[in-house]
Amino acid sequence: PRSSFVGGNWKCNGTCNSVSSLTQSLSTTTSNIVGAEVVVAPSTLHLPFVFKNIRGPIQVCAQNISSTGSGAFTGEISAEMLHDFGIRWVILGHSERRKFYHESDELIGEKVRYALLKKLSVIACVGESLEERKNDETTNVVTRQLKAISDNVSDWSRVVIAYEPVWAIGTGEVATPEQAQTVHETLREWISKEVSSSVAEDVRIIYGGSVKPGNSKLLFEKADIDGFLVGGASLKAEDFAAIIKSTL
Ligand code: 13P
Repeated sequence: PRSSFVGGNWKCNGTCNSVSSLTQSLSTTTSNIVGAEVVVAPSTLHLPFVFKNIRGPIQVCAQNISSTGSGAFTGEISAEMLHDFGIRWVILGHSERRKFYHESDELIGEKVRYALLKKLSVIACVGESLEERKNDETTNVVTRQLKAISDNVSDWSRVVIAYEPVWAIGTGEVATPEQAQTVHETLREWISKEVSSSVAEDVRIIYGGSVKPGNSKLLFEKADIDGFLVGGASLKAEDFAAIIKSTL
């Protein structure tokens, strides 16, 4: 049995005040949670504050890293900097990085390889656009994205796969439990065939896209949904805690 995994992706949100109060309220609302692995991903600027001030079972996660090491790479943050700071998780391949910053499957693969090499754990995201779904390309797209990730994985125990259909992100239009389960099952079967059945059995595959306290329970009941990557609702401590509790 896989333990559940819930990530809060704060994206490019927050002020000193809002991050401080969210950190404080999360520390109390989640203090009694046991049995789920939980991470929150603040902006890079807010990472040190959250890392130092969050209490309880929550780990802190970055939203991106450079594909290179430290050096003459203006504007980048390296995996070794995060590791040195004590941060152990990073989100890679988020659809917003793919779409707005033109991150290719190949670049995401390089980042996955580098993050694992430098002893970080990775939440690696895949997901199809609305147009791709309408054209019946969902399986092709997500397995192509997964292959580019998988080819670069040296240690599957430090990888969580997030399925985030682009059409469900920030739209309020959550995938139905059946829609999500179908894709999760496809991803797990691909891993079973291309990597190994034991990796497929152990790897957490989490769902993201308009997850709310009101829809997480039915999604989590599906066999291959092991938790969530939460955007908007993770900015409210009560909602985030309720989503975590729905996975216990
Ligand atoms: P929303 O929960 O706001 O739809 O965002 C999902 C997401 O992109 C998490 O990474």
